[in-house]
Amino acid sequence: MQKIVVAGGGYAGLGAIGALKRFPNAEIILIEPGSGHQLIPELPEALGKQGSIDNHLVPYDTLLAGSRVEHIRRYITNLDVKNQVVYLDNDETVRYDWLILTPGSEPTMPPIPGLRDVAHTLRDAGDARKIKNELQYAKEQRVAVIGGGLTGVEVAGMLAEDHDVILVEAFDRLLPALGFGLSQYAYRRLSAAGVTVVMGQKLQRVNPPRIELEKDHYEYGVLIWAGGITPPKWIQATELPLDSSGYPIADAYGQVLPHVFVAGDLWHVVVDGQTIPATAQVAAIAGNFVGNTVISRIDSGTPGPTFRPRLRGMLISLDEGQGVGWVLHGGIPVRGFSARTLKNISFQQYRLKLSKIFDRPWPLLETHD
Ligand SMILES: Cc1cc2nc3c(=O)[nH]c(=O)nc-3n(C[C@H](O)[C@H](O)[C@H](O)COP(=O)(O)OP(=O)(O)OC[C@H]3O[C@@H](n4cnc5c(N)ncnc54)[C@H](O)[C@@H]3O)c2cc1C
Repeated sequence: MQKIVVAGGGYAGLGAIGALKRFPNAEIILIEPGSGHQLIPELPEALGKQGSIDNHLVPYDTLLAGSRVEHIRRYITNLDVKNQVVYLDNDETVRYDWLILTPGSEPTMPPIPGLRDVAHTLRDAGDARKIKNELQYAKEQRVAVIGGGLTGVEVAGMLAEDHDVILVEAFDRLLPALGFGLSQYAYRRLSAAGVTVVMGQKLQRVNPPRIELEKDHYEYGVLIWAGGITPPKWIQATELPLDSSGYPIADAYGQVLPHVFVAGDLWHVVVDGQTIPATAQVAAIAGNFVGNTVISRIDSGTPGPTFRPRLRGMLISLDEGQGVGWVLHGGIPVRGFSARTLKNISFQQYRLKLSKIFDRPWPLLETHD
């Protein structure tokens, strides 16, 4: 019986377990500190006035009930790759035959004076709770969001109805990952919803209650930094080979060492010279791919094709009921109500997929301890 440890129960971790569950000759251990699988792409929605963070968490007790997956509620703090052991935050160890590392990523925060002392980030449900505790849902309260990528745009759009929102982007357009026309659409929509969009200026300093940009200064009540992601810090302290950005160096199967794999945000996937964006969609597919690869390694089967994800689309929520993005492999642009509806459908499809993989009744419980 092979002992397979999955480190992190997010999109990639559950994708891996979905594959491993079909393999009878494995003991599967999930090491994950949280009590619920966090539906992270839904968190901006949870920040809205009617939003509840608990509605975007699926309890592992519900998901894993009756399965042969053992859930250890701990953080991994380090690895001993020679002896095939992971260290936990209670100083205990867990031995593995195969390790799939899926702990996600952390927000980056550059050393801008004053920023770290006061700014929120939004990377998990804990962050969302802290932000929600400060929101007053009153137009008098100004929320400054720094970063006009996916997270910043979604948060600004979601809060626009009940707050005075400023969105700051250093580049000269929002959502640089989308085409120019879609970026322009997002800009027009957010502006019409009352968001003050400031582009082409970098944040220089935070001097509460002011943010100081290259040219302009603004007062704020709540400050949210939405400026990108980086691999978790503890990964840097491990013996894994890392690239210059701190990502484990993996081959095209996600394999870092003979018995160690990565998936999700921790796997910096490059296909034909192009970096594949770190999204939940890619994480879930990569997790499943790596789970199947581990099974094939155990069975000494011939390796299948390397990882080449085909993105089904990219959809971003804007203000109330609106969205923007593209769908299908050719990249058909979608805007407005239809984009938002497609995004909501994709959220429901993911929940449905989880209930099928883990053989749990639909709808999955939405309550949480
Ligand atoms: C605000 C926001 C909006 C987003 N919107 C979208 C979107 O619309 N569409 C999309 O496709 N993507 C979106 N993304 C990106 C997407 O959420 C991530 O790419 C995806 O969650 C990555 O999956 P993962 O499994 O690698 O990590 P995660 O889903 O973050 O899961 C990592 C898990 O590992 C656990 N963990 C962390 N450290 C440890 C440790 N040391 N030991 C054990 N366990 C650990 C965590 O508790 C967590 O459960 C969004 C991200 C954010 C922040």
